[in-house]
Amino acid sequence: MSAQWTREELKAAVKAYIQMRSDEANGIHFVKKHIYSELASRFGRTEKSFEFRMQNISYVYSLMGREWISGLKPAKNIGSKNAAEIESLISEIEGQNLPEVVEFEAQVISYKSKENLSKPDGVKEPRKTHTQVTSFDRDPKVKAWILVEASGKCECCGSEAPFTTADGEPFIEIHHLRRLADGGSDTITNAVALCPNCHREIHYGMNRSELKKSMYKKLSRLVQE
Ligand SMILES: [Zn+2]
Ligand SMILES: [Zn+2]
Repeated sequence: MSAQWTREELKAAVKAYIQMRSDEANGIHFVKKHIYSELASRFGRTEKSFEFRMQNISYVYSLMGREWISGLKPAKNIGSKNAAEIESLISEIEGQNLPEVVEFEAQVISYKSKENLSKPDGVKEPRKTHTQVTSFDRDPKVKAWILVEASGKCECCGSEAPFTTADGEPFIEIHHLRRLADGGSDTITNAVALCPNCHREIHYGMNRSELKKSMYKKLSRLVQE
């Protein structure tokens, strides 16, 4: 790879990525190659190098539990610092303070692949940091309605809740199919009740797109956003 990417270049790539992802979600047609070629001529890099960067952004999306652009397979050949910078650019461009998870998870992955990972000492007193994180005001009636509708079962795999909480409720989680951070609504037509396994899988699993599609097929109340 040629010279270091400036923040400006990285920002342009992330901006283009966010736009493509939103077009894809809204069924708007676009040609990836045209977008790379515009970026390439603006910054004097090859189209291919922008395509690789886009795959790095897909990797960051995957660490964030987001859906990446189809056809842009996540590529993890990116340092944890760069991955963190991409994450912070996503927050900046979207105008929200997302919880920062990428640098940590990228480091976990890189340590795991080390040949001789010695037993770590860890940190006796982990340092505290206070961060402001954007959250969404949700409607408790929506969650209540879906939990009643699901009656203690996962709407994805059909299993019973894996355990009962201390206050005697079956433990089932709510998932928004189009994420609130992506502009999704907090309504019963966009949310489902999932067991923790299915919930993690629909965020991070290899088959998450299929799983998501199957939810729309299975539950007639859902409306794609
Ligand atoms: Zn399940
Ligand atoms: Zn979720």
